Amino acid sequence: MIVGIDLGTTNSLIAVFRDGRPQLIPNALGDFSTPSAVALDETGKLIVGLAARERAATDPGRSAQAFKRWMGSDRTVTLGDRKFRAEELSALVLQWLKADAEAFLGEPVTEAVITVPAYFNEAQRRATRTAGELAGLKVERLLNEPTAAGLAYGLQDRPDNSTFLVFDLGGGTFDVSVLEYFDGVVEVRASAGDTRLGGEDFAHAAGKLFLERCTGLSPAERERLLQDPTLWWRAAEQAKRDLSERDQTVMGLMLDGRRLELELTRADLETATAELLQRLRRPIERALQDAQLSPTALDEVVLVGGATRMPMIRQLITRLFQRLPLRTIDPDQAIAQGAAVQAGLKARDAALEEVVLTDVMPFSLGVISSQQIGQQRVGDRFSPIIERNTPVPVSRMNRYVTVSDNQSHVELDIRQGESPVGSDNLHLGKLEIELPPLPAGQAEVEVRFTYDANGLLEVDVRDVQRGRTASTLIRNTATEMSEAQIEQALARLRMLKRHPRDEEENRYLIERAKRLYEDRLGAEREAIQHWLSQFEQVLDTQDGRAIRQARVQMREALDSVDGGFRF
Ligand code: ADP
Ligand code: MG
Repeated sequence: MIVGIDLGTTNSLIAVFRDGRPQLIPNALGDFSTPSAVALDETGKLIVGLAARERAATDPGRSAQAFKRWMGSDRTVTLGDRKFRAEELSALVLQWLKADAEAFLGEPVTEAVITVPAYFNEAQRRATRTAGELAGLKVERLLNEPTAAGLAYGLQDRPDNSTFLVFDLGGGTFDVSVLEYFDGVVEVRASAGDTRLGGEDFAHAAGKLFLERCTGLSPAERERLLQDPTLWWRAAEQAKRDLSERDQTVMGLMLDGRRLELELTRADLETATAELLQRLRRPIERALQDAQLSPTALDEVVLVGGATRMPMIRQLITRLFQRLPLRTIDPDQAIAQGAAVQAGLKARDAALEEVVLTDVMPFSLGVISSQQIGQQRVGDRFSPIIERNTPVPVSRMNRYVTVSDNQSHVELDIRQGESPVGSDNLHLGKLEIELPPLPAGQAEVEVRFTYDANGLLEVDVRDVQRGRTASTLIRNTATEMSEAQIEQALARLRMLKRHPRDEEENRYLIERAKRLYEDRLGAEREAIQHWLSQFEQVLDTQDGRAIRQARVQMREALDSVDGGFRF
């Protein structure tokens, strides 16, 4: 069975194409969204999802979140006494989702379509494939997230030349893409974004308002809160979400057993985030410019990503595009649904007509060159061969001449990026060719870049005078895991013990109770301690019926303390 997976920075979802439509698959807690969070408990057992997010509050040294940000890098994080790369943490999330899907579908899940941001570079894409492999999934295809959103909204059923703009505001990233449908092909015409802007910034703004305005805070307390956002981010997140539903809310914060409160209106939050809203404009303009489209020429504007639930986002879009955006699919779910549509296409589900997807290369690929400007030779210039937002597969050629007399060879330094300074761009590889001895400017090489839909870059160079050629296939970068490393990681991940899936909710309730215990003081704390002991006692009996009852009681008890918010 092939599934579609939205492997998000904040939340991940899994879906399947069944009975002619994409269907989201619930996790063991009954939620469609699984937080992309991993932790090891005190016994070294693995926790993933909401329970891990709870645990991150009480045990940050054994928890990891937002690791999608370092996909494709060598960075590791230590959980307890073990180091993990981003591929491994992502693999644990994927494995978790796979288990949920297998429980739901009652059959093995072996293949997946996994979505990635359009701006992901080669190293990041390969890391995502590796994560899939480590999770025991054959990655059928990496699908750009905006393309997935387009498929979920049926762009492929529209007339030729239809265009969609996909506006995706997630937890920590912002992504805009222009899609076009023509003759059975869905193409990303352009993409742009800001990898440091997302819903969290809006929650942060709510938190800062609290620190500025709450009158019950002593200067020392204010300083402490300023230094340690973990003390208030939950309260801020909740206030932000409340303000998506209503005009005002009370932001409540427990500090040393005292409840501090601040009334906050939607207008307050909007004023405080005017600058963030401003920052959303530039990537929209860039994407439209690259796609050579005016805002009114678009057929639809599609909103995805949890943060587009904020009314101010809808208003901004309505103003900018002079129309209402499409948001009939839950904005958290559109990408996973689209991934399932693609999975259905792969499995050739009868309900789907063949659609071909092409994507664009979201970044420029080229080589470092020197330029002769008058008498001066300027080195370290970036010379793009395939420009950003070119549809793939693509093959392009540039010519270069020597800069020195009798230059015996050229060494191509292959880079990816948008900086005019060659060495500022990501180094992908090198390719050398020998040249005949000729005066500067007379020996010539042709450099051809060919990029296919699977993300492989082939570089060919030809010495024009003698016709000799050299070529290289770029799929390796220094940050990529080697076959041996992947084998080792597989063995290590296999050794990690996990709690049985049917105990997932118990685990979540325990982690949540611990977090609330840390948060509170006095009588409330005693009550939480008492519930926790009672609950653990019942769990020890291993009496299924009693455990189910205790679970309901525990959930209600905790809801009475924190209002039952889940994030
Ligand atoms: P990602 O793609 O980063 O995994 P999601 O698309 O799941 O992220 O979006 C997560 C973001 O959506 C978080 O910042 C969260 O606060 C925000 N969000 C979720 N629900 C709401 C809401 N009702 N109002 C405002 N923001 C919300
Ligand atoms: Mg997302």
